[in-house]
Amino acid sequence: MKAAVLYEKEDLRIESDFEEPAMGEADVLISPKHTGLCSTDRSLYRGYVPFKPPLILGHEIAGVVSEVGASVTDLAVGDHVIIPPVYPGCENESCGPCSEGLTNRCKRSVFIGHGVHGGNAELIAAPAKYVFRVDKSVPLDEVCIVPDAVSTPFHALKSRSVPPHILMKHIGVFKNTGMFKNKGDSGGHPEGHHWLNDKNVVVFGAGGVGGPAINLAAKYFQAKNVVAVDIFDKKLEYAKQLGATHLINTNTYFEENGIAIKELDGRERGKALSGLAKHISSHLAEDKFQVDVVVDCSGVSVTFPVAVETVSKNRTVIQVGWPPRPAPDFLNQKIMDKYLTINGTWACPMSEMEEIVTAVESKTVDLNLLVTNKDYKLDQFVEAIHDLEAGKITGRATIEII
Ligand SMILES: [Zn+2]
Ligand SMILES: [Zn+2]
Repeated sequence: MKAAVLYEKEDLRIESDFEEPAMGEADVLISPKHTGLCSTDRSLYRGYVPFKPPLILGHEIAGVVSEVGASVTDLAVGDHVIIPPVYPGCENESCGPCSEGLTNRCKRSVFIGHGVHGGNAELIAAPAKYVFRVDKSVPLDEVCIVPDAVSTPFHALKSRSVPPHILMKHIGVFKNTGMFKNKGDSGGHPEGHHWLNDKNVVVFGAGGVGGPAINLAAKYFQAKNVVAVDIFDKKLEYAKQLGATHLINTNTYFEENGIAIKELDGRERGKALSGLAKHISSHLAEDKFQVDVVVDCSGVSVTFPVAVETVSKNRTVIQVGWPPRPAPDFLNQKIMDKYLTINGTWACPMSEMEEIVTAVESKTVDLNLLVTNKDYKLDQFVEAIHDLEAGKITGRATIEII
């Protein structure tokens, strides 16, 4: 079969007769039609992330079922489907994390396009129970970004944004302990509404993952204000289209205030970053809790201290973009003093995938805006990676496989 295969760093070849995948009786065989291009593909291609060659890249896959295993009953040939990039590999979701519901954290997680072959190929096999059918009205060249670019920020906003004291109050864990007095309200968490509804969200980085985070926060979770923070005006304009209510260019802020941030260190740098954080949070100053969540999708580590400064007391910072290096300062005192919740997040559990598919089918997510570059063919995969590095892709790019 045809496939884009990485043999070593920066050696990616378009093969025409690569071995086809084998499938078991509980699997389906899928013909990928489009894949989304993720910066993880770029990291693998450049050798920043170790991998075992040869490897077919591509972990954001939308395709058509071409064959079903003997025991598969709920999928049929011709169905349009997506596959989550990370799904459980343990027996019957029996490992520790899976049995706690964290199927995105399975001890034997299968990571498509990294640990096993990905979707930049004519065929891929996957367990039918982790393959999700999508209505044919949703274009495959858009829905392919859902598995990672949409589902990762979705999980972050839905499940990682709520501070524990709100969750506990809502579910009544400490109801009788006197620690959290029940004042008769539901902690802003009435049935049918997510906690984020009417809250204020700040998103750092308005790109391939930050864009969906902004769009989901504004349209799906119906946050009151969504502040987009980036260093490029082009990305901020894009964020506005996606639903951001406030736009902040940090470079412009430093320029206008005569701050040469790269030349500062120590106390001076800390002061400058605090000033930036105040600037960001002052946009929401009329509210009691000005900044309820900061979602860091920037993929750089210098934003972390700013995120900690920006978020209001008793609220949450979520690290979504992978920072290649640790943050320069770890603000232990501030995290403690502000009673913050600092959350990591990772992919998306299987239990939230159906909700995401429903959101996409009902057009609550603006996939047509989130995908900004659709013209790449499989043969142009390396060119697409170069364009991603050169900043030519504002949102997400998708690759046509066949
Ligand atoms: Zn990815
Ligand atoms: Zn497991």
